[in-house]
Amino acid sequence: MTIFDSLNPARPAEIIGSFRTSTHIDIDEAVERATDAQKAWSAVPIPARAEMIAAIGDVLASRKAELARLVTVEAGKILTEAGGDVQEAIDMARFIAGQGRAAWGTTHPCELPSKFGFTTRHPVGIVGMITPWNFPVAIPSWKAFPALLAGNGIIIKPSEMAPACCDAFVSACVDAGIPDGLINVVHGFGEVGAYLAAHPKVRAISFTGSVATGRKVAIAAMEVGPKLLSLELGGKNAAIVMPDADLDLVIEGALFGGFGTAGQRCTSTSRIVAHRSIATELTARLAECTAALNIGDPLDARTNIGPVINAESAARILAMVERAAEEGNGIVVGGKIAHPEGCEGGSFFEPTIITGADRNSYITRNEVFGPVVAVLEVSSFDEAIDTVNDCDYGLSSAIYTKDVNLAMEALHRLDTGIVYVNAPTIGAEIHLPFGGNKHTGNGYREAGSRGLEQFSETKSVYIDYSGRLQKAQIDNREALS
Ligand code: NAD
Repeated sequence: MTIFDSLNPARPAEIIGSFRTSTHIDIDEAVERATDAQKAWSAVPIPARAEMIAAIGDVLASRKAELARLVTVEAGKILTEAGGDVQEAIDMARFIAGQGRAAWGTTHPCELPSKFGFTTRHPVGIVGMITPWNFPVAIPSWKAFPALLAGNGIIIKPSEMAPACCDAFVSACVDAGIPDGLINVVHGFGEVGAYLAAHPKVRAISFTGSVATGRKVAIAAMEVGPKLLSLELGGKNAAIVMPDADLDLVIEGALFGGFGTAGQRCTSTSRIVAHRSIATELTARLAECTAALNIGDPLDARTNIGPVINAESAARILAMVERAAEEGNGIVVGGKIAHPEGCEGGSFFEPTIITGADRNSYITRNEVFGPVVAVLEVSSFDEAIDTVNDCDYGLSSAIYTKDVNLAMEALHRLDTGIVYVNAPTIGAEIHLPFGGNKHTGNGYREAGSRGLEQFSETKSVYIDYSGRLQKAQIDNREALS
């Protein structure tokens, strides 16, 4: 039996919980339990499923403070951000509950007389969910609630770095009355996720994590036969700053977007693409504000930047910054591993601003997933758009300008799944679709009205009430008239 510990990234001597790595037998049994429970659940009327999801939202709301504290000590988010993580799950429960009384398909006129067409949704069966550590309550909720509403059984494999948060989320579901066996958690590292992804009885896989892992999950899932496969992957998000932008707003947004969650959001602003005419002033002011940020214990209300998730992550971020420096980029502020007081052994990284990089630099092409922002200079709007789009990722982008024509032009031309105008690249709301283009995903979206797509099969239904054989796609109009 293999046991692993979840540690507080700010004080790794503090063990948040010990977890048993699920064996193949455990996973097989979880799939069997979910299969049995799903049969009954799929027969429950959809509005009644929705009521159960609303009840989960109420339980989560009643536990918000304790859950937020758990997110802080296990994932290292400062308390306000941890509260936001839990709030997203509450909001998602309420939104998805509402979807239980919304349209469940579309109606269509038919080519032939006395014939009617419509679509409806059906459960896929058993859904495997593999989740990252950085939204340890929100992301399981983005996947679990639409999957439940659609009538599925669920197996979640949370990140090995935030297993306690996922257990607490599932406890809220169980305490709200979700039937036994419908939601199951399996714990462990990549190997557990790989077994789940390849499980022949798991019909759909919903994965969120890095591009590198997403590729492995896709290969494992498809090896056993076609599955529904949703991949929500990394980002290299950019904010364009035009000469007419409100620089105070840009700086506030850059600090929040670049350094919130210590830069460990898929939508974190890691590139600022600034017009040359304001780039020097912007960089100087941004560096000054960055240097004033408090790094430290995320439980302390004065802290702006908590830890990164672990020592390996801090070392990886450092290596990326060192490589940027070797390539001749400037480190204007930050650039080092930090050791704040009272957080012995914790993994912290100074908020860092890099200059001198262009669109081909290593630091501007690769996801850092840490508090590192590169400022790139451009000479025109067109160059700014090309710079943002010249990137493998396509999750989130922003433009700061007071010119409505430029803003409209940008939102059409930016090749990202999410675009913000005069706001940072983070701040998605759960009732709009979430996801990205290019290497960021494979076309699905989470949340919003599209969140159900990955968890349901669409069925097209034709009802012919003519009482005679009618042949579609045959040019028989004359015969009919
Ligand atoms: P990760 O890819 O390292 O791990 C994600 C999950 O995959 C974990 O549960 C992990 O145990 C599991 N896993 C690892 N190897 C596996 C394998 N071979 N087969 C199956 N499962 C495996 O990601 P992370 O460090 O937890 O999260 C950070 C990444 O997630 C970043 O790239 C970030 O941009 C991305 N992310 C994307 C979104 C989005 O919606 N697009 C949201 C949050 C995070």
